[in-house]
Amino acid sequence: MQPGCRLQPAARRRPRHGRLRSSGLTPPPPRPTLGPARLGVCAGPTCRATFVDLSRNGSKQYCTRTCAHRASVAAYRSRRSPR
Ligand SMILES: [Zn+2]
Repeated sequence: MQPGCRLQPAARRRPRHGRLRSSGLTPPPPRPTLGPARLGVCAGPTCRATFVDLSRNGSKQYCTRTCAHRASVAAYRSRRSPR
């Protein structure tokens, strides 16, 4: 049996943890003020959650992807079977 043919321990695969603090970077500046126009209510049929629209063009309609998916599925089903 040869030395050096042993597998590396799994813990050595991720050396990235613990390096952020020594980088000296300042935290990113806050986003520019978007104004109250970017506050919205989720367009989901069963959801009344509010959200802040951080998209570039202000086209966000749902609080989460889950709501967007649920609404798209509901629209699809209503198209498929009108009654
Ligand atoms: Zn929602």
